[in-house]
Amino acid sequence: MAEKTIKNIEGFVLRSSPYKESDAMVSVLSSDGLFSFLGRGVQKNTSKNFASCQLFSKAKFSLAEQKNGGFALSESEVISLPDGKGDLTRLAIFSFLSEISVKLVSEEEASALYPWLDQTIENIKERGKEISSALIYFCHLLSVIGYGLEVNECVVCGKKTNIVGVSFNEGGFVCGDCASPSSKMSARDLKILRFCFKCGLEDALRVNFEAKESLSLLKKLIHYVEDFTGVKLRSLELL
Ligand SMILES: [Zn+2]
Repeated sequence: MAEKTIKNIEGFVLRSSPYKESDAMVSVLSSDGLFSFLGRGVQKNTSKNFASCQLFSKAKFSLAEQKNGGFALSESEVISLPDGKGDLTRLAIFSFLSEISVKLVSEEEASALYPWLDQTIENIKERGKEISSALIYFCHLLSVIGYGLEVNECVVCGKKTNIVGVSFNEGGFVCGDCASPSSKMSARDLKILRFCFKCGLEDALRVNFEAKESLSLLKKLIHYVEDFTGVKLRSLELL
């Protein structure tokens, strides 16, 4: 019986975990979902598959089924490589994008997220856009996994005017009548959040919020998702 093969999966490496000597278990997000496979020898920089198995490399992968039912990498072709050398913000953002995608997204949800990851990696090729792009990606990821915030009206009473804050417990914007003091946010922060949850792929290209305001909103959303899912997210602790 011929072994089963999967040819030319095009996607991003979300995780590459060392495994026995110079092998690694590699997870790739593609438009067809999430694939995990064994990469033999890929930790050696002399391996022909070394570059394509680095975190956030975009590549085409061909896989062959193993006797144990898992898949192993047979060949790969690099499309693009991430540019993170020596830049702590970039490295932290790459690690954050990987962490949230791996820890929060199920296999069934993964393919819906691929266009957003593809666009996000494209956007952050431009220096200075990293944190703002990560915020937009995180908001769309939250929507995909069912934790998107209601940003069109007050989540408690449905009123569309006098929106003054966010109630993370209720899952969205709240108006002046329904807000508690701790849920108040600035008009600017509310505007950014509304944009991030509602924007399309094309819109995501043209905006760039300040790093400081994006980071502060990212941290609020991280607390929110940690509280609701119990998952701890550590990759932005250094920023
Ligand atoms: Zn209300």
